[in-house]
Amino acid sequence: MAETMTALRKTRGEAGAELCQIPVPEPAGNQVLVKVEATSICGTDLSLYNWNEWARSRIKDDELPRTLGHEFAGEVLQVGDCVSRIKVGDFVSAETHIPCFNCPACLNRQFHICGNLKILSLDTEGCFAQYALVPEVVCWVNERTIPPEIACLQEPLGNAVYCALVEPVTGKTVLILGDGPTGLLATAVCKVAGAAYVATVGQQKYRLEIARQFGADRTINQAEVGDEGVEERVRQDLEKFYEGRYGVDVVLEMVGAEETVNMALNLVRKGGRISAFGITKKLKIEMNYNDGIVFKGVDIRGINGRIMFDTWYLMKNLLTSGKLDIAPILTHKMPLAEFEEGFRLMNDWPRQCGKVVFLPWG
Ligand SMILES: [Zn+2]
Ligand SMILES: [Zn+2]
Repeated sequence: MAETMTALRKTRGEAGAELCQIPVPEPAGNQVLVKVEATSICGTDLSLYNWNEWARSRIKDDELPRTLGHEFAGEVLQVGDCVSRIKVGDFVSAETHIPCFNCPACLNRQFHICGNLKILSLDTEGCFAQYALVPEVVCWVNERTIPPEIACLQEPLGNAVYCALVEPVTGKTVLILGDGPTGLLATAVCKVAGAAYVATVGQQKYRLEIARQFGADRTINQAEVGDEGVEERVRQDLEKFYEGRYGVDVVLEMVGAEETVNMALNLVRKGGRISAFGITKKLKIEMNYNDGIVFKGVDIRGINGRIMFDTWYLMKNLLTSGKLDIAPILTHKMPLAEFEEGFRLMNDWPRQCGKVVFLPWG
């Protein structure tokens, strides 16, 4: 095996990243060494690349250099002394939330929101590299029948699966607010799960076209019709259901803007469910608490990460069976050396891409 590898690293506390040659790490204790076959860009990577305010607060200058990336699929080449579950040759991806197993959340099997949570690439080295070190506890073994460029997308797909299926959606009307990759993937998941109606709302034509490919019954471009236009169209569609006198059964809030949070509260029916996944930029937002939540008896479910490993189990079966085809989200695949193009695609607005995948071996 080679002694050095190519890795895309954040070397300085400023925008950008650098391709570096660094030693291939050796797995110790509970670590496994993975040969990375495919790895995808996430919003978090984009923040780190752009070195925005959030990135600067999350990673201190003295933690650099750091290899970026946390979504991957690849083959296990070596394992540390204490590794027992994962074997050399396994085709793996990883849950990116690394739990402590000792806090009250972990002791209640809520590992994904561990009180001492560490996150791959934010608290460890990342996977935009030819090899990556991953703790065994978060490794997930994939079927080889799933191509690496699809398997690496399971981290964001897991957000979508958890968000959509935290409670059943079969036979329910679902409104998805947001046309980011998780909103689009949630569209696919809700359709496969047999939702009666799925409307996806976003601001980007290109992205809404992917939602249509995933089978959305309705896509609405908020940038074209405005907030009121969105509500009007959803209410029109709901006329099929109880003459439109009530709202939707389920809203997946995947934007985190004040307008979309209030849209969720307006459009959910009494006793309905809102999955709260979007993260607000503002620390505090205004909302109609009484009418939107209390009197409506709305069930709000905070969604962070993926349930370990329940969500992964669902994804594996949905992908392996061919019931869920997420290929439409994979719009760009390129060698890691072309990372600048990848990040340009992710930065352009409105976006002309779904998920962008890097191939570290060219
Ligand atoms: Zn991600
Ligand atoms: Zn914990």
